[in-house]
Amino acid sequence: MATVAFHGVTKLFPGGDKAAVDHLDLHIDDGEFLVLVGPSGCGKSTSLRMLAGLEDVDKGTIAIGGNDVTEFQPKDRDIAMVFQNYALYPHMTVGENMGFGLRIAGEDKAEIKRRVQDAARILDLTKFLDRKPKALSGGQRQRVAMGRAIVRKPQVFLMDEPLSNLDAKLRVQTRAQISALQRRLATTTVYVTHDQVEAMTMGDRVAVLKDGVLQQCDTPRRMYEHPNNVFVAGFIGSPAMNLLELPLVDGGVSFGGSVVPVPRAAIAGIGEHSVTLGVRPEDLAITTGSGLDVTIDVVEELGADAYVYGQADIHGRRQPIVVRADGRIPPKRGEVITLSYAAERTHLFSTVTGERLV
Ligand code: ATP
Repeated sequence: MATVAFHGVTKLFPGGDKAAVDHLDLHIDDGEFLVLVGPSGCGKSTSLRMLAGLEDVDKGTIAIGGNDVTEFQPKDRDIAMVFQNYALYPHMTVGENMGFGLRIAGEDKAEIKRRVQDAARILDLTKFLDRKPKALSGGQRQRVAMGRAIVRKPQVFLMDEPLSNLDAKLRVQTRAQISALQRRLATTTVYVTHDQVEAMTMGDRVAVLKDGVLQQCDTPRRMYEHPNNVFVAGFIGSPAMNLLELPLVDGGVSFGGSVVPVPRAAIAGIGEHSVTLGVRPEDLAITTGSGLDVTIDVVEELGADAYVYGQADIHGRRQPIVVRADGRIPPKRGEVITLSYAAERTHLFSTVTGERLV
């Protein structure tokens, strides 16, 4: 087990107009499950590949267990990586695939057998040990790739979208299995995904990247409740947080008849005329009293919940809005509903910089 630290790590690809990874500073605790998440092209795979030693670092350093490994070969970093396509050897059996890394490292035959059998038991692969990968399902192949990583007993596991080739149901099951396995082994893990649900459900902490820049690194709950900027606010959570641009009047923004105060200190010196107010779909309530009138365009019924999408006239502008409603008594398309909210459940961001104000 080991800590992992990125210090000012930067990657510039030839021909790229900006850094693929830009001064990344990230400290991962011993035994922690850290998820790197962000949209396509944000630099998450490049960050992981630099940690693995598969990509050179242009600036900064990477340390594993306190040792600077920036110039180390991949094989000398004591890491094991699980790839998206599993990268299994088709001509080898499951057992040979799992033991391959140990064999290359010159490990004793009996020890390899013992470790492969242990891993197969943990991953429920014992009866497949003599099969070739082509005779396995996608989920079973995924487990073989995991098995190959865990038999090595590395200091750090690196996983690059390991669930993306599985169907939706299997992905949910496997994500729970990987989380449970990681907790049991307590091996420091860096996991890359573009799926914010995967990030939120698996990570002890989640690091959100955009355009090569780290936006926020926090526990899933903190990230959800206190996003640092509009990008994180919109990226984490589904459906996304409502983000409404509202004029600043008399030290506050008004919306649906109530006023959300904006502390003067938060905007001192930045000359804001408007503020972006964020409110999550579940923090809006349908009321019979006064509030914001919304004309419903679409109702998505999910069983317990329904997501209601509509338009509201806010300060003379039509703005889209989504609210979570009770799925047992969902409103109907074309209806006008009235929404209320609690000011303390809203988030305020600078309309200019996108940064959180309070
Ligand atoms: P995805 O989810 O699509 O894999 P990602 O977040 O993992 O995306 P990276 O693959 O790390 O993103 O890419 C980050 C940036 O670096 C992108 O703009 C990409 O085009 C660029 N890039 C990645 N690999 C190379 C390369 N070998 N040569 C040039 N540019 C590259």
